[in-house]
Amino acid sequence: MTSIPLPAIGGRFAALLILAVMVAAFFALGLHQTLSFQGIKAGIDTVRTWGESSPLALAAAFFSLYVLLTALSIPEEAMLLSLAAGALFGVFWGTIIVSFASSIGALLAFLLSRHLLGDRLAARFSARVKTLNEGLERDGAFYLFTLRLIPVVPFVLVNLLMGLTSIRAGTFYAVSQIGMLAGTIVYVNAGTRLAALESVSGILSPGLLASFALLGVFPWFAKAFLARWRRRQVYAPWRRPARFDRNVVVIGAGAGGLVTAYIAAAVKARVTVIEAGKMGGDCLNYGCVPSKALIKSAKLVHQMRHADRYGLAGIAPSFSFREVMARVHGVIRTVAPHDSVERYTSLGVEVLQGYARIVDPWTVEVSLNDGGSRRLTTRSIVIAAGAAPSVPSLPGIDESGYVTSDTLWGVFARLDEAPRRLVVLGGGPIGCELAQAMARLGSQVTQVQMGPRLLPREDEDVSALVQACLTADGVSVRTNHQALRCEREGDARYLVVEHEGRTERLPFDALVLAVGRSARLKGYGLEALGIPTDRTIITNEYLETLYPNIFAAGDVAGPYQFTHTAAHQAWYAAVNALFGDFKRFKADYRVIPWTTFVDPEVARVGLNETEARERGIPYEVTRYSLDELDRAIADSATQGFIKVLTPPGKDRILGVTIVGEHGGDLLAEFVLAMKWGLGLNKILSTIHTYPTMAEANKYAAGEWKRAHAPQRTLAWLERFHTWRRG
Ligand SMILES: Cc1cc2nc3c(=O)[nH]c(=O)nc-3n(C[C@H](O)[C@H](O)[C@H](O)COP(=O)(O)OP(=O)(O)OC[C@H]3O[C@@H](n4cnc5c(N)ncnc54)[C@H](O)[C@@H]3O)c2cc1C
Repeated sequence: MTSIPLPAIGGRFAALLILAVMVAAFFALGLHQTLSFQGIKAGIDTVRTWGESSPLALAAAFFSLYVLLTALSIPEEAMLLSLAAGALFGVFWGTIIVSFASSIGALLAFLLSRHLLGDRLAARFSARVKTLNEGLERDGAFYLFTLRLIPVVPFVLVNLLMGLTSIRAGTFYAVSQIGMLAGTIVYVNAGTRLAALESVSGILSPGLLASFALLGVFPWFAKAFLARWRRRQVYAPWRRPARFDRNVVVIGAGAGGLVTAYIAAAVKARVTVIEAGKMGGDCLNYGCVPSKALIKSAKLVHQMRHADRYGLAGIAPSFSFREVMARVHGVIRTVAPHDSVERYTSLGVEVLQGYARIVDPWTVEVSLNDGGSRRLTTRSIVIAAGAAPSVPSLPGIDESGYVTSDTLWGVFARLDEAPRRLVVLGGGPIGCELAQAMARLGSQVTQVQMGPRLLPREDEDVSALVQACLTADGVSVRTNHQALRCEREGDARYLVVEHEGRTERLPFDALVLAVGRSARLKGYGLEALGIPTDRTIITNEYLETLYPNIFAAGDVAGPYQFTHTAAHQAWYAAVNALFGDFKRFKADYRVIPWTTFVDPEVARVGLNETEARERGIPYEVTRYSLDELDRAIADSATQGFIKVLTPPGKDRILGVTIVGEHGGDLLAEFVLAMKWGLGLNKILSTIHTYPTMAEANKYAAGEWKRAHAPQRTLAWLERFHTWRRG
């Protein structure tokens, strides 16, 4: 925020005192009561009679009162006065008087705020001032114009808070006067109708109803007008083709892109999907599919090693790591036909293999992988370009070498044995999954996490349990360790970390980077079109970018980075891209589940305790431990718990965390319940097969029920049964 020069303290204090006295006098004299709707209506005739003899005096008095009320930021009365202006002066003069009075009053409030109340207001409304400054930076004075036309921020606050921004007073005045004009006419017009009211039954007269209906629909019209205006401005530099080859072009054939293309083809749109790399994107080739295949082999090795837990002899399994990795690639190959060119072509999607670049809002150019290029015109574009692993800028990292989720599967496939010493940098889901799996497959794994705990998005008890499990599997978990650099001495390679002021060299044969994934934002036209980005492409709730015909879905749009959220967003992107001119749908993020596939799995939907506390949402926790569940005992899978958050005393699920075997599968019941507003009573009254892990959900609901048993009724029942026994 720019700093605003303030007058000397003494002058400021005196002015504030005068202001306070004026406000106090206004209320003490009961003026606020006379300005009630009935007061004005009753007084209109008297005033009118007086005004007939001295119309100029009436206009001047009215004008001054209006300016004063606006300058003192008393909004409701100013609104009623706009109606009264119509009643007293008619539409033309009423509009002139109100338009100037409200703008001058607004300017005075603006100046008061800028020169007198600045510090106080800035402290109280810092977030709003920030929003206004951002808006002004983005749209200039047009931003104020939109606020005047559609008062999403109350009129009074706009006057005061604009005083704390860098906008010039002259601009503020001019834009306010123009921006408020349409609204002023609507109000004053309604006032003329009110004046014509002779009896209470006249309230239902068509004229009055129409003018009040106009009051109601005005913001709607203003909004539509502004949307159109913005649209024209955004597209102004570009020439729109007269016709389009396609309805939608999709960039990227990962989960987001493929689902978009699938939906478009299903509703008979002409759709082209362009993929520069492998069909199926990250999930199939470098993410979910290979990692889950690896985790399965690692789990089996672990179970064989600990077979004594099941009454068998534990063995040190002999296996070839190369074979394990071959199986991983076999799994990718088996799943690949689901995402293949052939499948999508047969569904009616045109698939182009090449690199796409957006040339203008309706044209995509493709550099085909097998040479040549194509230019496609399209009514809409959906960007589903995904994310790539982040590589931290550590000194020496390139010399010492590393793998990411993109390269690990290829590099490890060439090894006969798992890397002897593996350092995993990162304590998020991908880091934890890989650290545990590789430790089980024989690597000595050191996991380095900068923060105080693993899986920092989850609750502390969850992180603690996961850390204990990883440690039991042989992972050396180093939390609060910061990676400083990589060093190389001959063949020896080290990650140098710092912990509590001491540095340590961690030797490695392979370094896995798992420090997050960044949206792909460069090189395909976002810059040239000026599509705003920060960590992801910025979209509105309809997933529209700056250009309403260009959408983004999946990892490139965020805020989540999951296959199922990419697919979920794809539905909205596809439907809005194809039918948005008639009906648009806001992406719904109310119930988003996810699972980290460590053993035991960590699955979550909705709020956890940490988030509820941070957001100040009152909650109570119901906890059910898996060591009480028959099936978990039978399977020796008792590690873990279910934690359900509900509002105190209410049967509404705010969020669920499950740590346990098949936690991701168990979660589905709670996801369904949250999505459709079902409470724990409904889960409790549903039959669950015995003995299954899924029964844990029912028992968690039972715990909640027990805690909310109606104690008074039970006491009466006890008496009743005692009486029945005679
Ligand atoms: C190790 C790992 C494990 C994971 N495990 C899970 C899990 O268990 N569950 C889960 O839900 N998620 C998991 N994820 C995340 C999941 O893989 C992603 O959220 C998902 O793939 C996102 O899909 P997308 O369509 O947004 O992007 P992507 O799958 O990345 O697809 C984007 C595609 O766009 C292409 N592209 C980019 N730019 C262009 C261009 N200009 N022209 C043409 N093509 C272009 C890319 O080549 C890419 O194929 C995991 C990720 C990793 C790395």
